[in-house]
Amino acid sequence: MTATHIGSEAGLYIAGSWRRGGGPAIPVINPATEDVIATVPSATPEEVEEALAAAQRAQREWGRAPGGVRGALVRAIGDVIRANATELAELQTAEVGKPLAISHAEIAMAAQLADYTAGWDRRIEGEILPSDNADEVIHLNRVPIGVVAAVTAWNAPVALLVRKIAPALVAGNAVVVKPSELAPLSSIALVRMIAEAVDLPPGLLNLVTGGPETGLALVTSPRTGLVTLTGHRDTGKKVMAAAAANLTRVSLELGGKAPAIVWADADLDSAVPAVAMARHFNGGQVCTSAERVFVHESVFEEFVARYTALVGHLRVGDPLTEVELGPLAGAAQRDKSIGAIERAKAEGARVVLGGGRPDGDAFERGFWVAPTVLVDVEPGMHIMREEVFGPVTPIAKVDTLERAFELANETRYGLSAYLYTADHRIAMRAERDLDFGELYVNRSIGEQAQGHHSGHRESGLGGEDGKHGVLRYTQLRSVYHNYA
Ligand code: NAD
Repeated sequence: MTATHIGSEAGLYIAGSWRRGGGPAIPVINPATEDVIATVPSATPEEVEEALAAAQRAQREWGRAPGGVRGALVRAIGDVIRANATELAELQTAEVGKPLAISHAEIAMAAQLADYTAGWDRRIEGEILPSDNADEVIHLNRVPIGVVAAVTAWNAPVALLVRKIAPALVAGNAVVVKPSELAPLSSIALVRMIAEAVDLPPGLLNLVTGGPETGLALVTSPRTGLVTLTGHRDTGKKVMAAAAANLTRVSLELGGKAPAIVWADADLDSAVPAVAMARHFNGGQVCTSAERVFVHESVFEEFVARYTALVGHLRVGDPLTEVELGPLAGAAQRDKSIGAIERAKAEGARVVLGGGRPDGDAFERGFWVAPTVLVDVEPGMHIMREEVFGPVTPIAKVDTLERAFELANETRYGLSAYLYTADHRIAMRAERDLDFGELYVNRSIGEQAQGHHSGHRESGLGGEDGKHGVLRYTQLRSVYHNYA
């Protein structure tokens, strides 16, 4: 494993050079073994400010660079990711415990995000408007925002980072990134790989490590033009409140509580594995994971039996081997899942599979949770309201479509929803009535670079990917040209 040489020496990349941070060191723990695999320094508020100042200086030039030049850099980032896919995937698996195959899939997705976004290099366009005055024209220009602070979560470290730096850079901004303190190694490695392979103007891309305080220092600095956060809903609220001091723009990609509705006419041969994947991909630690399943009463028993049989056979174990489930990313994540199961049981839910740590000596160390299926769940229960972020599936019975939609919408979150039906009319009604930023019809988890990943309600503010995601890193400037 290549983890240790990275991280322990230098965690900060500021103005084109690496250094140790002056703040307290943070251990990085392999969740499969509980071993400390690296120690990463954290940045002091002064170092954060230095990084932002370096970004501000670099942005002046970069904002004037032709689109093709910006696109070439982002395209090169995609190439760097592909060239180093093995190392990045292994690091991700070491720091968050996701099965290696999933790490590889996410690294490939990160490269695709860079490729797609690079294609916007010549497409960020302005408008020309007629004026009410004679001999006058109005130019509406899309200009960069300036310095972007990119604060990321641990659940897909590389892809979440690229999802932010690619559009920020292509739109002419400079960036300071702060990866999650739980999983900084792959982000540090990626920035190092980019810096080594690409002709990067000093200060254009900076990295600071640390926890919430480091993130907060980025959010509250007047040098920051836009904060783009991927994280928990409560963090989003804190970031938005802190950003208000300077009216700094925010783009918040937060949690979810996705419903999956399996209707009476659904093809269970495809719906069962699709829901199982949507719940268990990355151990259920995805913002778009299916967190609540609603099944029509006529197929409820059959669905539960088939789902439980499938999920019960998922291979759980060492994420470096061929398994579907590794450990959860940390002790807190494990405790959250176990706590949610216990609370659901206390509220009257019945466990039909799993319910705690998997059996066996191999699971004594590490942050393991067995695939767990719960029935007899009611809408008001905690497990039907709050994000669990683990391999725990509560399955509820519904009788009418109206009730299914009503229950699905009964959440403060609004990121994604899943629907399984053979009836086009039901799918069209869902498209109209389900209040979520993303709806997956008859398919499993996984958005695409050209789509738009955005949460309604408390799942976020803004959105990433696609045209709208790129344009979020720009602002408009109107210029009145009077040539009388
Ligand atoms: P988190 O909110 O604990 O941390 C996210 C990042 O914010 C970390 O880098 C952390 O250091 C930083 N942070 C924490 N408090 C801060 C503060 N007060 N000010 C500034 N920065 C602060 O989230 P997490 O546990 O790392 O990630 C899991 C969450 O992320 C889940 O809720 C998940 O649904 C969500 N998520 C959302 C998306 C999306 O695109 N919508 C994608 C992945 C994960």
